[in-house]
Amino acid sequence: MYVESLRGRDIKVYLFGKQIQNPVDHAIIRPSINALKATYDLAIEDPDLATAWSPLINERVNRFLHIVESPEDLVIKNRMQRRLGQITGTCFQRCAGLDTISVLHSITYDIDQKHGTVYHQRYLNFLKQAQQHNLIIGAGMTDPKGDRSKRPSEQSDPDLFLHVIKRTKKGIYIKGAKAHMTGGLNSHWICVMPTMNLSEKDKDYAVVGMIPAHAVGITHIYGRQSCDLRALEEGDIDKGNAKFGGQETLVIFDNVFIPWDHVFMDGETEFAQDMVSRFTSYHRASYVCKTGLGDVIIGAAATIADYNGAEKASHIKDKLVEMTHLNETIYSSGIASSYEAKKLPSGIYKNDEMLANICKHNVTRFPYEISRLAQDLAGGLMVTLPSEQDFKHEITGPLLEKYLQGKASVPVEHRARILRLIENMTLGRNAVGYLTESLHGAGSPQAQRIQITRAMRVEEKKDFAKRIAGIQID
Ligand code: SF4
Ligand code: FE
Repeated sequence: MYVESLRGRDIKVYLFGKQIQNPVDHAIIRPSINALKATYDLAIEDPDLATAWSPLINERVNRFLHIVESPEDLVIKNRMQRRLGQITGTCFQRCAGLDTISVLHSITYDIDQKHGTVYHQRYLNFLKQAQQHNLIIGAGMTDPKGDRSKRPSEQSDPDLFLHVIKRTKKGIYIKGAKAHMTGGLNSHWICVMPTMNLSEKDKDYAVVGMIPAHAVGITHIYGRQSCDLRALEEGDIDKGNAKFGGQETLVIFDNVFIPWDHVFMDGETEFAQDMVSRFTSYHRASYVCKTGLGDVIIGAAATIADYNGAEKASHIKDKLVEMTHLNETIYSSGIASSYEAKKLPSGIYKNDEMLANICKHNVTRFPYEISRLAQDLAGGLMVTLPSEQDFKHEITGPLLEKYLQGKASVPVEHRARILRLIENMTLGRNAVGYLTESLHGAGSPQAQRIQITRAMRVEEKKDFAKRIAGIQID
């Protein structure tokens, strides 16, 4: 069982200035584990959605470990992501690992074709194990990057990008860090990979390898989230979403060993750019996950309108329509990108790059507007509501019950719970997942604009216009 598999590991984790001996039962960490566990539970509850047949091991496997065999596979993946967003209301942390597996299929194949290496077979061997044991793979992509005007090999501290520091007969040793690692310590394995295009001089930075998340030399430093200390409070109302949360860690790799069997790139700098752009093609369409969160927040906004007795007001209905329009626009660009997937030489399908970037670019904007509208419908009480303890207090409790009533038929506690959920998703812990991760995860907005610029074929479009306007084209 997944949660049990995380116990008893000698994993080094720091949170609030202390080393955490038992992360699994830590009140701040556990909701993030619950969110990942939902990916296992859904596979049992809805196998058509969350599992697939793997020809690699001739068994059904969790869809988060499945090699994409068709555009339809990608569309079902998107539906599964939306569903998991609806269930958890947060980041369930497993998609970056899936998108890593997907990109490695074609990249290892392409490198082997050019260099006669054996990366693809190593990758398939690893993947079989991962499928058999239903493992979580964390994606270690984002280096700290230091001075953005300098290449990896030009940084004043060479470790600001993760790199190979030693090679032996048995394997390689790496040093550096990966930032913002989604589900870092909830993963069984971490795949490190380059974060940007590399030049010949950056050879030691062109490294891809799989490492156990608890390997010797790895330290996880837990990222704080807004209102995270509420997890330590008694009661569940003020938490807004008491069961589920996201997780990002800064992962330090100090002289970490990777045996050759788990090395999938070492020095092939010319493939780094392709690796990043193929990864983003998959991952930026994965951000349809946020439409599941959007469904939750639209539901919360509609519920609070009911509780306030405002559900029939035409402007309320119109705001719900607006929220839905924005949410479905994200979804449509994501699944369009999946339907337009094309087969690569290795046999795997890859999302349409332009539409994946459009999907993610929509995600950098629309959840903010959806959140604004949810806060509009929630009213100011969302941020002036007294604490759960005051509701339970013998003097203040009855006063709050009397004066914070909306519709008489609705318990005041229900009203408080929905307001806290909207607070959680737009200001609190899961605003990390719904807002800031939507902005910066899978690349900040400018990264999409660069790729849109590259792919927008404006010269061809000028010709369309000129032809119709009767301007001669040379
Ligand atoms: Fe998956 Fe979305 Fe979390 Fe990325 S942000 S891991 S796509 S749930
Ligand atoms: Fe992410």
